Amino acid sequence: MHQLTLEWASANQNLSQTISLQQSTRVPGSIRIGRDATLCDVVLNHPDPNIEKTVSGLHIEIFFNPDAQSFYLRNLTRDRQPPKQPNPAVVDGKKIVTEEVPLHIGSQIQLGRMALTVKAIDAKTDTSKEPQYMRVCANPRSPHYHPLEYNKFNCEVCGYVMLGATLIYPS
Ligand SMILES: [Zn+2]
Repeated sequence: MHQLTLEWASANQNLSQTISLQQSTRVPGSIRIGRDATLCDVVLNHPDPNIEKTVSGLHIEIFFNPDAQSFYLRNLTRDRQPPKQPNPAVVDGKKIVTEEVPLHIGSQIQLGRMALTVKAIDAKTDTSKEPQYMRVCANPRSPHYHPLEYNKFNCEVCGYVMLGATLIYPS
């Protein structure tokens, strides 16, 4: 399960949201954060418009980097053309424009005058939920599944002949 919990404050209110990449986000594989509710999965609003407008409509995205097995942040305003300027994000005190940086539990993400904290991260790849190849016997009533390396000609449980490998999807 690849999911992440963010916390932030809007005026006196503490808000929190847990987003899973297995659920559908607006853009698959990406958690989009900004001020515009039509574009973002996490929407930053503030009763003071002077604070809210310091956050871009579509400001950053958080994605899972499978090579690093961790969540990364990317600034989506980085490709803005002049006269528009990229709107930096500050992650753990470091200004991020073009760089992509890993996030950790406790990471502080500052967008304009609003700040989010990464409260929890689940970056474990749940291998039990991935389809697996298994060998199956020809028993028409209740076929038996054996590991791929099972090399018997007949099923030791029922005696039916063993068939080839088949993909099993865990429910
Ligand atoms: Zn069998």
